[in-house]
Amino acid sequence: MKITSIVVPMCLLVSSAGAALGQSQYDLLLKGGHVIDAKNNIDAVRDVAIKDGKVAEVANNIDPSKALKVVDVKGLYVTPGLIDIHVHVYASTGERNSYAGDNSVFPDGFTFRVGVTTVADAGCSGWRNFEDFKEHVIDRSKTRVLAFLNIVGHGMRGPRFENVLADMDPKPAAEMALRHKGLIIGIKTAHYAGPEWTPVEDAVKAGTMADIPVMVDFGTNWPTRRPLAELVTQKLRPGDIYTHCYSGLRNELDDTGHVNPGMLAGRKRGVIFDVGHGGGSFAWRIAVPATQQGFWPDSISTDLHIGSMNSGMKDMLNVMDKFLALGMPLNRVIAASTWHPAREIKHEELGNLSVGAPADVAVLRLRKGNFGFIDMYGAKLDGNRKFVCELTLRSGKVVYDLNGLTRPLWNTLPKGYTNTGDARWDAIRPAHAAKH
Ligand SMILES: [Zn+2]
Repeated sequence: MKITSIVVPMCLLVSSAGAALGQSQYDLLLKGGHVIDAKNNIDAVRDVAIKDGKVAEVANNIDPSKALKVVDVKGLYVTPGLIDIHVHVYASTGERNSYAGDNSVFPDGFTFRVGVTTVADAGCSGWRNFEDFKEHVIDRSKTRVLAFLNIVGHGMRGPRFENVLADMDPKPAAEMALRHKGLIIGIKTAHYAGPEWTPVEDAVKAGTMADIPVMVDFGTNWPTRRPLAELVTQKLRPGDIYTHCYSGLRNELDDTGHVNPGMLAGRKRGVIFDVGHGGGSFAWRIAVPATQQGFWPDSISTDLHIGSMNSGMKDMLNVMDKFLALGMPLNRVIAASTWHPAREIKHEELGNLSVGAPADVAVLRLRKGNFGFIDMYGAKLDGNRKFVCELTLRSGKVVYDLNGLTRPLWNTLPKGYTNTGDARWDAIRPAHAAKH
């Protein structure tokens, strides 16, 4: 990495590690945190060292003198950067009442502050407008933004587009997905009002051609014409994703209050069940009995958009808190927000802290107290634990630091001090990137 001559004296002034002279073995060392890394079966206190944006070492005790910057994270959880595979972030078009427009949000305002480093847009764009989405949002975001491509060519522009079967063409969708392999990580079908299976079938065709999973928002409920059980036991492939699994809008619980036997059979086949909380897709009266019967989500996701961000959903950590409140073990909540979604979208380099993995990291505090969690209908469940994001690293650089864990006290700095960070670990205020 290139370091300008101005940086060196600043490092000497502000580095807490005393290793500023010359090349340190590590750029950043997170010391003493409780690491939860489901891929590597780690749920214990470990040090995590980072070099050149990658995880360099995870061990019981790493010598602080080896690192340019040491951060004490004792008492905090250190997890892979959170991965939210259901968001709506195509906010740039100016179209009203459209998820390819005003119903979406720009990702960076909603991600790093809650430990999220990767999101997958859930079908805001289709093959006709994906490249506009890429140019105006994906390529300009600091958050890693991936996408499920809508099977509808025009994407999620509202019912007058989303119900048009003629605009659901697997071939151009698959071609667009293959042109952007790794960036388009799945095909989405959503919001379809009619009784036909066509949207699901076309999405699966496109997913098969491009070798990527399909995520289904099952639209209007047609319990006899296209029942949920048939979707997850026959229409979807193993690895395809049923989102909004605690909405109760499509017979997720049967009349006797039991989890739809089709969902149990679908899970056995390898179909994935995702939360997709949203503004209208998560009800305690479904989630409580379903989880009491042992039906936990494979992945936790927000369905972030303007209708969910200030209602019951709020943000990724709040949705994770809800699963803690439901009694899901903490390490499984983390796994369902990191390693599991990484696997579901076939990005297995993410969602873990293996040596060599991109150093996307969340440092979380677990607060204890009295908290309330609200569902889509405004009903509340009490809980006593809540995650707070203290620190987020994206590719080894600090992108969010709630309480200044990485920062020097102002009165220890020289008179007239300016930017205090070092570009080797800091993406907020690195000294040699100062502008204002
Ligand atoms: Zn959605």
